[in-house]
Amino acid sequence: MTLSWSDRVHCVAQSEIRRMTLECARVGGINLAQGVCDTEVPAVVRRAAQEAIEAGYNLYTRYDGLETLREAIASKHEHFAGLAVDPEREVIVSAGATGAFLTACMALLNPGDECILFEPFYGYHVSTLEILQAVPVFVRTFPPQWTFTVEDLERVRTPRTRAILVNTPANPSGKVFTREELESLAEFAIRHDLFVFTDEIYEHFVYDGLRHISPGAIPGMKGRTITISGVSKSFSVTGWRIGYCICDAQWAETIGFFNDLVYVCAPAPLQMGVARGLIDLREDYYAALAADFQLKRERLCSALQSARLTPRAPQGAYYVLADLTNLVGQTSKERAMDLLRRTGVACVPGSAFYRGDAGESFGRFSFAKRDTELEEACRRLERLKP
Ligand code: PLP
Repeated sequence: MTLSWSDRVHCVAQSEIRRMTLECARVGGINLAQGVCDTEVPAVVRRAAQEAIEAGYNLYTRYDGLETLREAIASKHEHFAGLAVDPEREVIVSAGATGAFLTACMALLNPGDECILFEPFYGYHVSTLEILQAVPVFVRTFPPQWTFTVEDLERVRTPRTRAILVNTPANPSGKVFTREELESLAEFAIRHDLFVFTDEIYEHFVYDGLRHISPGAIPGMKGRTITISGVSKSFSVTGWRIGYCICDAQWAETIGFFNDLVYVCAPAPLQMGVARGLIDLREDYYAALAADFQLKRERLCSALQSARLTPRAPQGAYYVLADLTNLVGQTSKERAMDLLRRTGVACVPGSAFYRGDAGESFGRFSFAKRDTELEEACRRLERLKP
């Protein structure tokens, strides 16, 4: 038999996150590896989805989403990002931010096109580019600011560079891009005529009084920015698969056609649930969410500190990178396994976020957990105290 896999298979090999999740389940541990936000779903969102099923929202929707939801997304974006959006022509509802990014890349990138990403990166971004034979090109950033200069971008740019990807707030570093950084990135993108993909899924998880700035709202950027976000994290509905892409009408329709091809549409009643949440939940909801997660961040950082796993408190998102070098092992995988054996707490080895060996000294811990479970994880970590 000569049957075999496609050349694409290496892009979806067992991820470190999935591997640690399995290892964690095997020992009955607490999983701080996966960014699954299992906090409460807002009641209005749950109720509206249930009511939508009863009201008959059970069929295919328009390929780019129900009008009510597109309108709610446009007006929320206008409110928070300060950018006017046409709900009829500039919003595509997709299967999560993941679906929005995939279909945007399908519409806009050719095989061989290069996309600049900041390292440490989110693995799905890299794999998505690679299955389409686009080429990720990395600009490494360093703590504590995880910043970059235009020279860093120029150094990796080639005639094949077609896009740059910004994840703000970032997974795994927690970096919240500043206005100055985004302005210099915008100047670079305009000068070289690049698309800018943004992933703003953590837009409401910002701490210490910082503010999320949506790169598409920087003057001159609207026409080239593909803004991607969703509600998986902010409404704790990772399993609903509702996200979206906002971009200029000239790109949106074709991205929508790819969305139609791959997903047909996002789940109809869940679109209604999310729309109700976006309409009813106001600034106080998001402010309370950020305040709650800031407390979780504090609790986890303090436990990591007392376990001598020195943490870097993130500015945003809900992950902490912590130094694992006091654990047994030569690599981040060995150290993460040592931690799991000794405490029953799983983290993601830092190697998952880099191409080379720059991630070997640390691990990523998620604090998107209910308080009781986070508390138990922290107690277990604190037992490592020398
Ligand atoms: N983007 C980033 C940076 C993420 O960390 C995640 C989930 O961990 C996602 C997107 C997934 O978003 P969605 O559930 O909307 O596909």
